[in-house]
Amino acid sequence: MTDRQFGRVRFIYGDNGGKYPFNHSLYLKGDRERVIIDPACSAVKLADLRDRDGVDAVWLSHWHEDHIRYMDHFEHCSVWLSKRDFPPLSDIQVFLDWYGLKTPHHRGYWEKIMLEEFHYKPLSHAGFLADDTAIDLGGFTVQVIATPGHTPGHLSFFFPEEELLFLGDYDLTSFGPWYGDVASSIEDTITSIRKLRSIPAKRWVAAHNEGLYEENPGRLWDAYENIIYERENKLLAFLAQPKTQDEICAAWLIYGRPRDPLDFFEFNEKVLVGKHLEYLLRRRLIILEGERYVRA
Ligand SMILES: [Zn+2]
Repeated sequence: MTDRQFGRVRFIYGDNGGKYPFNHSLYLKGDRERVIIDPACSAVKLADLRDRDGVDAVWLSHWHEDHIRYMDHFEHCSVWLSKRDFPPLSDIQVFLDWYGLKTPHHRGYWEKIMLEEFHYKPLSHAGFLADDTAIDLGGFTVQVIATPGHTPGHLSFFFPEEELLFLGDYDLTSFGPWYGDVASSIEDTITSIRKLRSIPAKRWVAAHNEGLYEENPGRLWDAYENIIYERENKLLAFLAQPKTQDEICAAWLIYGRPRDPLDFFEFNEKVLVGKHLEYLLRRRLIILEGERYVRA
């Protein structure tokens, strides 16, 4: 896939097919302001864009590292995002806290990666994009759409003139949605998926993998949302007999099998299982007996 121009909006295809730790970015060329959204697609492309086309501002869909990777190319720019997602970008310790990293081993591992691979630099300030507002960039408008769940301040963007919707990390991948951070929410993820689905777009851009959809992704939306319910059903079936959280994680209900790097995926399995357990407990579909969860 190559970069594509739609009116004032450019789709910039990411390195490695936009797979983590890269993404696909958008470039907005307004008469008043030129914006890069989620500058993590490609060091070469972003340096070229900055030097040839010019960039005045960086907008972020959310705080995750695979969306901020090349922020260091744009130190002359103002940075804009949801106020709710600002804290982890203001302090690396807060960033690690928001991922729920507790042991010195995990925190040290991630701090090193954030500094070396993702060029993390704390922001002393940022501008805040208000939920569900329209912004005139000069010659065209952008609608800021609050889509919490993946992160509390996740934003998507709709361009009415181009009929293009930037989904961010509601990325329609076969893995399904991520909601494993401390402040992620399964309920909000479901609401946001449905909100995005209802927007009358003709083109859809996901931040990862496939990236650009020029036909309604229709059934992909169903498949993506259904993964949440499939994960839950697997967990409920497994909890016919009481199980500890460690026993549940050892079954790899979400990732299917142990994956490399093991440390990374064990952590992810644990936090996603943890979110599902909380969600099932809140609805009284499971109960906690001592240290074991079991179907109610
Ligand atoms: Zn993300």
